[in-house]
Amino acid sequence: MSMLGEVALVTGASRGLGEATARALAAAGAAVMLTARSEQRVAAIAQEIRSAGGRADSIACDVSDYASMVRAAERAAEVFGPVTILIANAGVIEPIAHVATSDPAEWARAIAINLVGGYNSVRCVLPGMLDRGRGAIVNVSSGAANHALEGWSAYCAGKAGFTSFSNVLAHETGGRGLRIFAFSPGTIDTDMQGTIRASGMNPVSKIPRESLRPVSHAVDAILYLCSPAADDLAGGVISMNDENFRKRIGVN
Ligand code: NDP
Repeated sequence: MSMLGEVALVTGASRGLGEATARALAAAGAAVMLTARSEQRVAAIAQEIRSAGGRADSIACDVSDYASMVRAAERAAEVFGPVTILIANAGVIEPIAHVATSDPAEWARAIAINLVGGYNSVRCVLPGMLDRGRGAIVNVSSGAANHALEGWSAYCAGKAGFTSFSNVLAHETGGRGLRIFAFSPGTIDTDMQGTIRASGMNPVSKIPRESLRPVSHAVDAILYLCSPAADDLAGGVISMNDENFRKRIGVN
C-alpha cells in the first residue's frame, strides 16, 4: 500500500501504536512528523527511519496544549508540505481509580489529553485539508467508549467523547474529500496494557499478555483506513473486534 506523496502527522509516536504506525507509514513512502512529549524518543525514532531511507522528522508536543499542536502541524508543513494524514493517537489510561476516590485534577488531565487533545490535533490540520479537498484522519478511540469498566471513568468518558467528536466531524465534513474514522484498535500489546495489568482493576487487567493482539494488526488497519481502499467506510466507527473488517484487511 503506497503512501508516496502523503505527509503524515502522528501524535503519541514515542512508543506503542503511534511509533509502529509512524514507522509503517514511512516504510510505505509517506513523509512522517512524529510527535509526543518525549522529545528525545521521537527524535531517535525519526533518525532511525531516516537511516533506513525514509522521510521523517520530529517535534516535542503535548496534545492538550493547542499552541503546541499548532507548532507541530506548522513544522510538518515547513519540512514536508501540508499534512494530508493525521493519526490522532496520543492517549493515557490513567487515572485508574474509583470515581469516589479519584483525584479531580488527574481526571481532568485525562480528558484534556484523550478528548481535548484529539480535538486540538484535528483542529490544527482540518482547515487546510478542507481547502485542498483531501485528507485522512484516524481518531484512535477505544472499545472503552462503549463499555462501563471499573476504575476507568476518565478513560471511558474521554474515549466516548472522542468517538462522538469524530462522528460529528465526519458529519460536518462529509462530501468534501476527507476520509475520517474513529478507530478502536482492540487490546494490543503495548506499554498501556502493561499499566492496565499492573493495576489489577477490572477484567481487562486480567487478560494475559500472550492473548493481546499484536500492534501490527492495528497498524495494518490504520494504513488501510488511510488509503482509497477504505473510501466506502469513510465517516464510520471502525473496530478491530469487527470480524468482517478484520477479514477485509486480511488479519485474524
Ligand atoms: P502507550 O501508552 O504505549 O503510548 C501512548 C502514547 O501517547 C505515547 O507515545 C505517549 O508519549 C503519548 N502521549 C500521552 N500523553 C500525551 C500528551 N499529553 N501529548 C502528546 N502525546 C502524549 O499507548 P498505546 O500505544 O497502547 O495507545 C495508543 C492509543 O490507542 C491511545 O489513544 C490508546 O488510548 C488507544 N488504545 C489502546 C489500546 C491498547 O490495548 N493498548 C486499546 C484501545 C485503545 P509521551 O508520553 O512521550 O508523550
